[in-house]
Amino acid sequence: MIYQGSNWNNIHNISTRSYKCGYSGCGREVSSEKGLTHLNQFGSIDGVIYECPNCRRPTFFDTTSREQTPSVAIGNDIKNLPSEIEELWREMRNATGQRAYTSAVLAGRKLLMHIAVEQGAGPNLEFVKYVDYLVDNHFAPPNSKSWVDQIRKHGNEANHEIVIKTIDDALEVLTFLEMLLRFIYEFPAKVDKKIA
Ligand SMILES: [Zn+2]
Repeated sequence: MIYQGSNWNNIHNISTRSYKCGYSGCGREVSSEKGLTHLNQFGSIDGVIYECPNCRRPTFFDTTSREQTPSVAIGNDIKNLPSEIEELWREMRNATGQRAYTSAVLAGRKLLMHIAVEQGAGPNLEFVKYVDYLVDNHFAPPNSKSWVDQIRKHGNEANHEIVIKTIDDALEVLTFLEMLLRFIYEFPAKVDKKIA
């Protein structure tokens, strides 16, 4: 939901800041001058809360660590996804918005396996086998080999290993999945519409 109407109580004018709103239902590039500041024991500002002029939701900036909360989810909306795939795609993107990159990669692996099975791969295969299935059956675009090699890397861990993932790992899996999802679901639907 987007909040309409009046502002938060006691909010006031502070120095203007431009940022991308981290709320997943908004995500706009905004410029806000309304918010609240927090002072440390020496009287200098160490945290600021801004109100988004579009959705009215607050975003917190820790001025020491320079972290934004909620931070911005990686990736984009994709049209014409089956509902379960759409839900998992959203969940993966939201995890990146919470800096939960290991969770995002795990959701991404699950999503990739789900896509492969939906496109005819057998159940209960290893992750790498699903990647191979999508490539061998031309579901991955040509020239995506270097991406595919990166993605395979994420499947080489045994299940009992705990490997903490970084934003770069999440970005690799997410970029590859976005390409796959557009190629398999969004573009064919666009073409069908044109022909019909
Ligand atoms: Zn917003």
